[in-house]
Amino acid sequence: MTLRKPGLVAATAVVLALTATACGGGGDSGSDGEKINIGIKFDQPGLGLKTQDGEYTGFDVDVAKYVAKELGYDEKDIVWKEAPSGERENMIANGDVKFIVATYSITDERKERVDFAGPYFLAHQDFLVRADDDSTWNKDELNTKELKLCSVTGSTSAQNVKNKFAQEADLQEYGGYSECLTGLENEAVDALTTDDSILAGYAAQKEHQGKFKLAGLSLSDESYGIGLKKGDTELQKQINDALAKMVEDGSWEKAADKHFGPADYDYEPAPEITEKS
Ligand code: GLU
Repeated sequence: MTLRKPGLVAATAVVLALTATACGGGGDSGSDGEKINIGIKFDQPGLGLKTQDGEYTGFDVDVAKYVAKELGYDEKDIVWKEAPSGERENMIANGDVKFIVATYSITDERKERVDFAGPYFLAHQDFLVRADDDSTWNKDELNTKELKLCSVTGSTSAQNVKNKFAQEADLQEYGGYSECLTGLENEAVDALTTDDSILAGYAAQKEHQGKFKLAGLSLSDESYGIGLKKGDTELQKQINDALAKMVEDGSWEKAADKHFGPADYDYEPAPEITEKS
């Protein structure tokens, strides 16, 4: 009798551990300290940044926190996962994360593999160039210059360059935008191209001050959505409701002002939610 009891306890512990593992991706309801995995960027100041003290900060982080809270999760139960541009669909499809808030543009191609809630933000593709660059940047002339550009694998920014406005350019692609900054400073590339929201954050960073500027090209519309598992219409609706509430109660504006204000980024108003099933 005395021998059986520890065995029973051990067996229960195994069952509990297995249950906890199975729920790792974020279960259905957010009660009782259950963890939720959320994908964000780690190297985009103003949007998604992991600081040297291991804190997470930015507009996307605030949106993610707000949505998680509305879904019933405590902030302390959020597990932040880095979601590089080229990995986002896989991370969602594999169940590594419950949702992704990472400057993630809604596109038809991506919608073949994932669903989106939102949009919650509108940005435009632009070029970041050196502050002393005095050439004139014009959307229609990009193919006439011998351009060396830097962008990120799996982003709409890289795809737009290749398919639309600078097919002739020599494009270097990295895993993250911050990896392009050294090349831009060293004149290995002429410009880093992605959303103006992201570029404004880099230009305003203390260590970059006075080094870079935005060309002001507004090359595309990038509607940021929250990526989630394809077919999970209930989660999509819950997130849409949370986003609508965030705008309505003023939290959206407060977060945008807090994170884009210091970069002097003149953000667009909150867009209308269109991703509904
Ligand atoms: N918003 C664009 C995209 O989703 C560029 C920024 C990014 O790579 O996250 O591809």
